[in-house]
Amino acid sequence: MGIASIALALLAPDAMLPAARAASGSSAKVPTGAAAAVDTRPPADPAQFARCLDRLESTALSRGISSATWAARLDGVEPDRGVLASLDFQPEFRTPIWDYLAALVDSDRIEDGRAMLAEHGQTLEAIERRFGVDPATVVAVWGVESNYGRNFGKLSLVRSLATLSCFGRRQSFFQEEFLTVLRIAQEGHVEPERLVGSWAGAFGHTQFMPSTFMSTAVDFDGDGRRDIVGSIPDALASTANFLRRAGWRRGESWGFEVGLPEGFNTSVTSRRSKRPLSEWMSRGVTLPGGQAIDPAALGLRPQTRVGLIVPAMREVRSARAPAFLVLPNFDAIYSYNAAESYALAIAHLADRLRGGSAFHADWPTDDPGIGRAERRELQTLLLLRGHDIGEVDGLIGSRSRAAIADEEERLGWPRSGRAGRRILEALRGPA
Ligand code: CA
Repeated sequence: MGIASIALALLAPDAMLPAARAASGSSAKVPTGAAAAVDTRPPADPAQFARCLDRLESTALSRGISSATWAARLDGVEPDRGVLASLDFQPEFRTPIWDYLAALVDSDRIEDGRAMLAEHGQTLEAIERRFGVDPATVVAVWGVESNYGRNFGKLSLVRSLATLSCFGRRQSFFQEEFLTVLRIAQEGHVEPERLVGSWAGAFGHTQFMPSTFMSTAVDFDGDGRRDIVGSIPDALASTANFLRRAGWRRGESWGFEVGLPEGFNTSVTSRRSKRPLSEWMSRGVTLPGGQAIDPAALGLRPQTRVGLIVPAMREVRSARAPAFLVLPNFDAIYSYNAAESYALAIAHLADRLRGGSAFHADWPTDDPGIGRAERRELQTLLLLRGHDIGEVDGLIGSRSRAAIADEEERLGWPRSGRAGRRILEALRGPA
């Protein structure tokens, strides 16, 4: 599935998320606030690259890629060291889930998503009729993956994937993606010059990897091309098709927030180990406010099998954190990008787009995460205090983080560089 770059992780979700997926295999990492990776390695060897491309060309030709396609896409291409740095990038700290969700499900994305639901309503209804996936879920994926088409990534897919095919870890995985992107160019689904994306090769409105494109993308606007870059109907329908194939159940929800009784043993919780709803109820699981769960009111039966997740469990080991019962549609979203935090972001954004409220339980922190509007305000305050942080864009990069750390030190706090509610409120005071 789409692979976004953890390297960009700045909780610039748009640019970041997918990378984790297929490329890293484990994908389940929560992107961190780290800046783009700094590469200190020697340059990728051009002679080695040339030899590798010779081998790849033979393979490509044997698989039906024409010499003309090869020449048009590969002549003069040099390896991109930046993508190798991204491949090896190790975040220096783990982003708490409340920061991750605060950036992904913020007021900007909710407002923009509701506008998209209205603007593309007819298309989304047609998509739901055909694939069974509701408009809010499809739009939520779109909003998280590319900020509703605003951020596709800027790197040449051919160059990135050629580099990753010849150097570093997972070359065989990337070789298949590389050969596939050449096929996409040759078949004319997407304008070749628009085959740009994340460092790992995800592209388009909903950041498919080339292999996912081949297996799953659909032509929904009927022009004969499957164009997930130039056609919003194609991109959104392809996303719905992905979810349908991942087991999406028409008319069902992803799950819902619950309350846990004091002393609840959270070690039994898992998305995978599903148990009958009645069993969770007998263990004291309730609605978030403590009221009993009424299965019928939720369109469920007592024997419906559901999983329980407590995303902040590692941080707190207490029942006083958001907890959720999850249904198979949560698993379908999870398969888009194998991380529970990711699936929860999509599910929650979809709920908010439908008019749902924020989570009932607070995250276990006294310094909550902030969305992009507050991040922009924080950056503006840093600029006013003389920090050279570049543009005010709501993306907390390395310069913003350094400036935050300096301000923390000035306040006598430990240096963390984290953009949160506490530092924002402190800087709102007199300079
Ligand atoms: Ca089309």
